[in-house]
Amino acid sequence: NAPINLFGKGEEGKGADSKWLLGGKGANLAEMSSIGLSVPPGFTLTTECCKAFCDPNKWNGEIHPDVWDATLESLKTIETKMGCEFGSDSNPLLLSVRSGAAISMPGMMDTVLNLGMNDVVVEALATKSNNPRFAWDSYRRFLEMFGNVVLELPRADFEEEIDNIKFEKGYFEDSELTVEDLKEVVAAFKKVYEKNSLSFPLDVYEQLRLSIGAVFKGWNGDRAIKYREVENIRDLLGTAVNVQAMVFGNMGQTSGTGVCFTRDPNSGDNELFGEFLIDAQGEDVVAGIRTPLPIADLSTAMPEVYKEFNENTKILEEHYGDMQDIEFTIQEGKLFMLQTRNGKRGGGAAVKIAVDLVKEGLVTKEQSISMVLPEHLDQLLHPSFSDTESASYKASVIAEGLPASPGAAVGEICFTNEKVVENAEKGIPSILVRDETSPDDIAGMYSAEGILTARGGMTSHAAVVARGWGRPCICGCSALKIDEEAKTLTIGDVTLKEGDVISLNGNTGEVMNSKIAVSPPTIKGDLQEFMNWVDDIREIDVLANADTPEDAREARKNGAVGIGLVRTEHMFFEPERIGQVRKLILSNTKEQEAEALASLLPFQRSDFEGIFEAMDGFPVTIRLLDPPLHEFLPSLEDKEILEKLASELSLSMEDLTTQIKDAAEVNPMLGLRGCRLGITRPEIIEMQARGVIEAALNAIEKGIDAKPDIMVPLVGKVEEFRNQAKLIRATADKVFAETGKTCDYRVGTMIEIPRAALTAHLIAEEADFFSFGSNDLTQMTFGYSRDDVGTFIPEYKSQGILLDDPFVTIDQEGVGSLVKRATEEGRKVKPDLKIGVCGEHGGDPRSVKFFYETGLSYVSCSPFRVPIARLAAAHAAT
Ligand code: ADP
Ligand code: MG
Ligand code: MG
Repeated sequence: NAPINLFGKGEEGKGADSKWLLGGKGANLAEMSSIGLSVPPGFTLTTECCKAFCDPNKWNGEIHPDVWDATLESLKTIETKMGCEFGSDSNPLLLSVRSGAAISMPGMMDTVLNLGMNDVVVEALATKSNNPRFAWDSYRRFLEMFGNVVLELPRADFEEEIDNIKFEKGYFEDSELTVEDLKEVVAAFKKVYEKNSLSFPLDVYEQLRLSIGAVFKGWNGDRAIKYREVENIRDLLGTAVNVQAMVFGNMGQTSGTGVCFTRDPNSGDNELFGEFLIDAQGEDVVAGIRTPLPIADLSTAMPEVYKEFNENTKILEEHYGDMQDIEFTIQEGKLFMLQTRNGKRGGGAAVKIAVDLVKEGLVTKEQSISMVLPEHLDQLLHPSFSDTESASYKASVIAEGLPASPGAAVGEICFTNEKVVENAEKGIPSILVRDETSPDDIAGMYSAEGILTARGGMTSHAAVVARGWGRPCICGCSALKIDEEAKTLTIGDVTLKEGDVISLNGNTGEVMNSKIAVSPPTIKGDLQEFMNWVDDIREIDVLANADTPEDAREARKNGAVGIGLVRTEHMFFEPERIGQVRKLILSNTKEQEAEALASLLPFQRSDFEGIFEAMDGFPVTIRLLDPPLHEFLPSLEDKEILEKLASELSLSMEDLTTQIKDAAEVNPMLGLRGCRLGITRPEIIEMQARGVIEAALNAIEKGIDAKPDIMVPLVGKVEEFRNQAKLIRATADKVFAETGKTCDYRVGTMIEIPRAALTAHLIAEEADFFSFGSNDLTQMTFGYSRDDVGTFIPEYKSQGILLDDPFVTIDQEGVGSLVKRATEEGRKVKPDLKIGVCGEHGGDPRSVKFFYETGLSYVSCSPFRVPIARLAAAHAAT
């Protein structure tokens, strides 16, 4: 590919499909110019250049001479278009050097503005523009940015110099600085270089070469690497570099700069949402040095510009079919578009925008589906504060800031990233409280429940990042005084310290000094409508894993069309039942066993009945007892329980203790459990099968369409399945004979042992359905104990041995190939064999895509993940 792409008026626009090479910013600058918007001319050095630059075996940190020649060639084109000359002593051209990867990484990479400045150029610019203030203002900005971004001088060193000068003169605002003052600032900034034994390159071409190199180098900087890690961004070539003619927002009262979303990224409302500053350059808006004005004020400040801007937002939305996040600059009354991209948005806004864009005819339903990400739904399905009208809520509000990112967050105050991360490792929720966040804070922002800042606006770093990640965030809470040394925050007369619990309401901007109760989410309105489209488009069913009638009702509310897994053992853990289970396990006579089973039967039956009722008309897949029995036994410390049990079983304490000890296994997960248990203790299976069938008959009697599927766990050999299926069918026949009624039911199996997957063709001969138990299948295929992976998976991931945790995202290569093979072999025997998956992977979007492509009939996941799995299933089908 050519290393350079030109953009600006008169250049062929390269579309979004070239993002890979040009980065998002470069591709969109080209595209905006091609649809006729005014974009300052420039060119893009491709991401391939970045890759070669960073590769020690290729350019090894230097710009290749041929590419440098091409850069100079392209620069000539800009000079011609702009009618001025880079480094000229009479008519100079200044440039911006901007990074931009294929996936937007806000604030992660640095920009150099006003490049091409030196002692001669500044005079030329002052004369040419007849605006010396502007020229010297641009010079001091360049000295700071170049020093900071390219030579890595601390920004604070420059800030200190300018603050000193302002203090001496008694100024509050940068705008009070006169030309003479700015010359002083420039001199002071040059001293910062000297103090650090660095020289400021007066040669403008040297400035350009170094800046391009710095952007490329930034790709492998700590911040960029951390961001990619957190966002799971892989396989990118690098960042592109955009070199562009400067336009100046700092030329006085008819100039300015701003950022704007075409719709409200919090509510999704179709109105412009943004901020601008008069007489300023881009960085000023984001940096929070001056308080920007709301975009609506532009309509009175510069009506003509506002009108054109407003039209541009419509053109862009129509062109891209999505809400845009735009950066612009106004130079002496003329509008320039500097960036556009699909805007990051909160969950509620994502759904509203998707639904509105369909209704406005800008996108199809299929397209709208792809605009809502699993993370968006995840946010919406999170709890919110239950009663914001209550007196106790109102009484605990201690401050209000800008509602920068919606949601409810409750956690301990933390003033540092390190503390947040430390808390997260212990499972303690935190609120990150800062004056302002910077890209260095992303690790803490990611791990925090919510973010609170004293400064910064709705488009500040904290706000943008928080919205992208769905973290509730309150910005610009100016009443907040933070003492980082003492680790306290003060609001009015309330002082709180690190570790105190606060609550943030990201929808309103309210900060509460207590733990506020939260309530579960509901699906209604736009979300309801959107989810209906999702169901129309998806081709794979979504069921839920639910163990109680209550969970089953929740699952159905979330759109589950059946239960893929009822873990019957979960019904045994309740206090009144566990005693009977213990009796059953430790029984030494047939009578004791029968007694215990008889007392457990009604519990099982009534639970199953409740689940059938909740799932009226949908299949309910019930797994027979799975875990090793000793999981139910009391600890030997529990004297009181042991004594009671001993007397019930007519045993001495000594004998009971021995029996409990004997039940322990060296490796219980590979021991007496699942169908092995069912085969050695058939009475348990008979009781369970009876419970299912009797419950189904009872439910049917009540007019409920009960569809029981009985599932045998941990089968490795078809003979095991045959044994259990025979027992289940015999029990059902017995119940039918006793009651004189019948019902339909199916008997199938989990495929969770590799041997079962490898002999699926044999098992399919006998089983009515398969359900991949992907947790155990992963555990046994890898040979990783899923309860102990914490000891090595993080290391494996950081060394690249594993890309993902296989217990979160299905390992397509290994475990996935077993799933594929078993599905194919099973369907060869029974073409419409029902095959699903139950396990954590059923709610993981990337895994859902794989299961869909493999031809599974359904995925099953926990009730609260059901909407996300439905969306993932729709994404997979489009
Ligand atoms: P980021 O990716 O961090 O947003 P950008 O490359 O978009 O960085 O640059 C940040 C800001 O710098 C822009 O929003 C804009 O205000 C200003 N800027 C960039 N290029 C130019 C230019 N050619 N003329 C004027 N301002 C510019
Ligand atoms: Mg930008
Ligand atoms: Mg299992």
